[in-house]
Amino acid sequence: MKTQVMEKAEYSSATKPKNLYIESYGCAMNFSDSEVVASILAENGYTTTTIEEDADVVLINTCSIRDNAEQRIRHRLKHLRSNKKKNSDLIIGILGCMAERLKVSLLEEEKLVDIVVGPDAYRDLPNLLKAVEDGNRSINVILSLEETYSEISPIRLNSNGVTAFVSIMRGCDNMCSFCVVPFTRGRERSRDAESIVKEVKELSHLGYKEVTLLGQNVDSYLWFGGGPKKEFGKLTDTEQNMSINFSKLLEMVALVDPTMRIRFSTSHPKDITDEVLFTMTRHTNICNYVHLPAQSGSSRILDLMNRNYTREWYFGKVNRIREIMPGCGISCDIISGFCTETEDDHSETLSLMQELEFDFSYMYNYSERPGTLAARKYPDDVPDNVKGRRLQEIIATQNAVSKQKNKDREGKIFRVLIEGFSKKSDNDLKGRSDENMVIIFPREDYKPGDYVDVLIEKSSTTSLVGRVIAKADKP
Ligand code: SAM
Ligand code: SF4
Repeated sequence: MKTQVMEKAEYSSATKPKNLYIESYGCAMNFSDSEVVASILAENGYTTTTIEEDADVVLINTCSIRDNAEQRIRHRLKHLRSNKKKNSDLIIGILGCMAERLKVSLLEEEKLVDIVVGPDAYRDLPNLLKAVEDGNRSINVILSLEETYSEISPIRLNSNGVTAFVSIMRGCDNMCSFCVVPFTRGRERSRDAESIVKEVKELSHLGYKEVTLLGQNVDSYLWFGGGPKKEFGKLTDTEQNMSINFSKLLEMVALVDPTMRIRFSTSHPKDITDEVLFTMTRHTNICNYVHLPAQSGSSRILDLMNRNYTREWYFGKVNRIREIMPGCGISCDIISGFCTETEDDHSETLSLMQELEFDFSYMYNYSERPGTLAARKYPDDVPDNVKGRRLQEIIATQNAVSKQKNKDREGKIFRVLIEGFSKKSDNDLKGRSDENMVIIFPREDYKPGDYVDVLIEKSSTTSLVGRVIAKADKP
C-alpha cells in the first residue's frame, strides 16, 4: 500500500451503512472532538458502535501532552493488531494531537495504521476513508486558522444524558515552554457565539442539566467574526466594540436556561478577569468553581515556563476570586521537576498549595516534549527519582488539604446535580456540588438530572458521603 497525502478529494457517499468505533484519550477537548467526528461520519453513513469487534472503522483520538500518554496509545495499537488479523478490511485511524505531532512518521512507525488526521482536518475524514478503501493510506494534518466546527451538531457519545461539553474555541497562543498544545492544536480561534448558544439550547431541549464550556484558555475567548485572535487588533473601534468576550458569552449561555448549570474550563490565571467573576456572581446557574492551573509556586520556574505571572500575582488572583465569590471551588494543575527546579523551588510549590488550599489538583511529573521551547532551551535535568519523590510530596500535600477541607464539610448541606450511579453500588447515586465536589448518597427515589440538597455525614480525602434532605428544582 502506498502513502498518500491528501488535501482535498472528491467525496462519494458510502453505499452501505458502516460501523464506527471511536476511543478518546486525554483532555475533555478530545472527548468533545470525538463527538464532532461521530457527527461528520454519521452524515456519511457511519453508525457509532460501542462494540469494538463490530467496527468497520476504529478511530483513536490521541493525546501528546506527556510521553506516557503517547506510550499508552502505542500499547493500545498493539492490541488492535489481533482485530486486524481477524478482519483484514478493518480501517484503523489515529486522530488528534499525536497525529498532528508525528504526522507521516506515525504511518511509517505503525504499519497497522491506515489514516492519520490532525485536529483541524476532521471534515476531510470521509475523503480519507474513501482513499483507504481504494487501497491507499491517507493523512491530513493541515492546521487551520479558522476551523471551529461551528455549525456541526455533535453526537453525544457515552453520555449520561445530564452533563455535556461544548467547545467554544480551539488552539492556544500562549506558548508555555513545557507544552506541546500550541504545536498540535494550532493558533487560538474562537467559535461563533450564536452557534454556541444554539448548541446549548439544543442540549437544554434534550433535557441536559449542565454544560461545560471548553477551551485551552477560555478567558481569552473573543468572537469578532472569525479567524485567528491576533487579527483582532486590525479591526476598527466600532468592530471591536461589537465583539463578544468570554464574560459576555458566559452571560448569553447562562440566560439560555436558568435550570441548567454552566461550568467552564480551563482558565489561565493571567486572563481571568473581574468582569468574568462578577458575571459568575450575577447568575446562580454559573457554578462557583474555577480550575486555575498554577503549575509551580516558584516565580523563577514560572518565568522559565513562560506563564506570564509570578507566585505573588497568582496568590492575588486566588484571593480575588475568594473575595468576589466566597466559598468558590478552586482546583489546580501542578508540574513536578520542571527544568532546573531546585529543592527551594519545590518547597515554594508545596507552600503555595498549603496556603491556598485547593479543593483538588491534577499533579504530574514534567515530561519533556520534542519541539517545545523548554526542550530547545533548557536541560531536563531533574532526575526521574527526584521528580517522582517531589511528586509524591506534592500529592501528599494536596491529600492533607483535601482531607481537612472535606472534614470541614461534614454537617453542611450542598446542592447536588445527580449524574448517575456511584461506581461501587447501584443503591447509591453520585453527583457534584456547585463547587465541583463529588458527593455520594443513597438512591431512594431520586434519578439522574434531579437537583437535591445533600447533608454531608462522612468524608475522606477523596469523597463526601451524605443523605438527601430535600429535592430542589434549580441549580
Ligand atoms: N490550557 C490549560 C492551562 O494552561 O492551564 C492546560 C492544558 S494541558 C492539556 C493540562 C495540563 O497538563 C497543564 O495544566 C499542565 O499541568 C500539564 N502539562 C502540560 N504539558 C506538560 C508536560 N510537558 N509535562 C507535564 N505536564 C504537562
Ligand atoms: Fe499549553 Fe499553556 Fe496553552 Fe495551556 S495555556 S494549552 S499549558 S500552552
